Amino acid sequence: IDLNPEGYFQFRIIVLGDAAVGKSSLLRCFAEGPGAGPGAAATPGPTVGVEFYSRTIPMPPSGKAKLQLWDTAGQERFRSITRSFYRSAAGVLLMFDLTNRASFEHIPEWYREAAGERPPAFVLVGHKCDLVAERTVSAEEARHLAATLGVAFVETSAHSNLNVELAFQTLAGGIQQAL
Ligand code: GDP
Repeated sequence: IDLNPEGYFQFRIIVLGDAAVGKSSLLRCFAEGPGAGPGAAATPGPTVGVEFYSRTIPMPPSGKAKLQLWDTAGQERFRSITRSFYRSAAGVLLMFDLTNRASFEHIPEWYREAAGERPPAFVLVGHKCDLVAERTVSAEEARHLAATLGVAFVETSAHSNLNVELAFQTLAGGIQQAL
């Protein structure tokens, strides 16, 4: 966590979860959202195989925060995500697909991977909530897991643009509390 040249807080945020749960889609949806401004589009990151987006959001009461959004760029398929990817993250979205039970069951593993000596702020995200008929994980189960891990839970859809802002705002609030 540091201040960027404009005097904003700057946080690195990562999204963890199984392949194809929708991590890139959620990041892109948020990066292209309201107030994105120039520079919000995907730019090649400094690390090979990691894609990078950014967006500045208001940080109550008076500041702003630049969120640097790092994408695993498919490395999770090969379990080749490096320690350095987790290390400097201030916030982590733990993401599963509400229509893919295995992706939900793997969340505790993803949590353990990222919860190091100085744990970042976490939010549990149940994604693809637009696919109501195909859903295999209930809100109740997800809330129970979130409570067990001590994190907030948000259901999102990139396709229907539901709660995308809320997921990142909740995470930013958690990061701010931990400052
Ligand atoms: P990643 O591998 O976790 O980064 O997942 P992607 O972002 O590549 O998405 C995987 C698949 O899920 C793609 O076919 C997306 O179109 C689809 N997808 C992503 N977000 C949503 C969503 O909100 N709703 C639905 N129905 N499909 C989604």
